[in-house]
Amino acid sequence: IEMEDGYETNIEERFTMDKTQIGDGAFSVVTRATNKATGAVRAVKSVLKSRVPSMEALHAEIEMAKNMDHPNIVRLYAVYEDQRHVYLVMELCEGGELFDRVGDAFTGGEEVVRKCMRQIFASVAYCHAHSIAHRDLKPENYLLHDKDKPLAETTLKLIDFGLAKRLPESGHLKTRVGTPYYVAPEVLAQNYGEPADVWSCGVMMYILCCGRPPFNADKDSDILKLIKIGKYSMSDACWSSVSDNAKHLIKSCLEMVPRKRITAQDALHHEWFHAEAVASGAL
Ligand code: ADP
Ligand code: MG
Repeated sequence: IEMEDGYETNIEERFTMDKTQIGDGAFSVVTRATNKATGAVRAVKSVLKSRVPSMEALHAEIEMAKNMDHPNIVRLYAVYEDQRHVYLVMELCEGGELFDRVGDAFTGGEEVVRKCMRQIFASVAYCHAHSIAHRDLKPENYLLHDKDKPLAETTLKLIDFGLAKRLPESGHLKTRVGTPYYVAPEVLAQNYGEPADVWSCGVMMYILCCGRPPFNADKDSDILKLIKIGKYSMSDACWSSVSDNAKHLIKSCLEMVPRKRITAQDALHHEWFHAEAVASGAL
């Protein structure tokens, strides 16, 4: 296998690799590593090449992630490649996954949800401005930057561009990917682009507001049936304390027709975010 545009081959020359795993994926393990020259502590994702279904897709992921420079997207600093592995040296996030903090948002109230969603929409708007659809937006793929800080005071960082695709001219993608809870109806119809990411944002916001997914059933196939008809409710008791603006934004994201769905950029200008400026005295 040829080396991609001169990635360095010996990561241990530059980094002291920690043995303790801090995360794992289908073909990778993530550990801490310290830059020998600067002392900077990073996260290194070691991808086992023999397990990767497509090296081409991995290099595409790397090229995309390399060009991302946004406060709510994990930075990719360097890439190394040796005989058996590709190593992605990333900004280290120490606070774990948003997935494990959903309860903090739910009990913390709308202000906390707003702080999370502003960062989430910002990361998605940035990807879309660069013609990249992430395609796997979910609370597992947002990490908290800081270790011992409350959710409302830390920064969320989007990870895992493994399923991301640069959009073709038509803005449509055809492969089926994703996780049932968060998947948009047009993904199931195999014709989708950026709006599908916004749908997933709507699902995340719904979950952060009430602690459970909008489309839920015991079997994945039943979840998908509910998504196809766009059937969800906001009639549970928990919704009585949620503002109309918040509900309106969720509905705008869970709009069935992709071209009528709100964009991530417009979501950032929604009334609901306006309310934050008023509450904090910025207006
Ligand atoms: P995969 O593509 O194999 O799913 P991910 O990129 O999702 O791999 O990483 C796997 C896990 O490793 C994540 O779910 C997360 O818990 C952890 N992880 C990934 N990147 C970082 C990082 N920059 N800082 C801290 N932990 C991380
Ligand atoms: Mg992952």
